Amino acid sequence: MADDLIAVRAPVVTFYVLKDDAGLYLIDTGFLTAPRLLRRELRRRGWEHLPIRGILLTHGHLDHVLNAVPFAEKFGAWIAGPRADADHYLGRWPYRGISRVTGVLEGVGRALFRYRPFTPDRLLDPDAELDVWGGLQAVHLPGHTAGHTGYYSPTRKLLFSGDLFNDQPGWPFRPPPIFNSFPKQIPGSIAKALSLDLAGVLPAHCDDQPPAVHLARLRRLHERLTSRRR
Ligand SMILES: [Zn+2]
Repeated sequence: MADDLIAVRAPVVTFYVLKDDAGLYLIDTGFLTAPRLLRRELRRRGWEHLPIRGILLTHGHLDHVLNAVPFAEKFGAWIAGPRADADHYLGRWPYRGISRVTGVLEGVGRALFRYRPFTPDRLLDPDAELDVWGGLQAVHLPGHTAGHTGYYSPTRKLLFSGDLFNDQPGWPFRPPPIFNSFPKQIPGSIAKALSLDLAGVLPAHCDDQPPAVHLARLRRLHERLTSRRR
């Protein structure tokens, strides 16, 4: 991992800490145990005294936003997230079809883990630019949710890809069907992500391989999806 980037590997979901001259930023906020893991990783890197200025959300699923409000309050950080997921942050997205299972799971999780609904300080539209980490572009990659967004660093050629795909050891796949609100849009979003000038991708559900390996696997998944359609 680069010296201005930490992957915080929590049990079900990885989230990221970025460092620039102004301070630190989180990409997503992890799930259970994330506060403890974040503390440990910051201490390990010697970053525990640096201010956490902002939180960028890839989408509104509970395993990515559970700690958004607690972290924002604790660190005095702003929250930014895709506008089209506004109902997710408020815990009232109208899940349809098979993804209603996710709605039920999230309802239970919100009650159990005392989720605090919110509206981000900044609601991001597609292609928004953020003055973070030398400049990040919000890349709308819908399908998993309506607003699902990756964050692209043109200077480093890295894409934080959220739940665009799952990258378990050696076998990349689309997120399981119950978690996808608009599954037909996912292949197009994968193609859009791969059209960027990339050296690596950093998914939210993955093993601890380097970004270049995740990129190679995403390309493999793309080939699999497009050959199936031919
Ligand atoms: Zn998700």
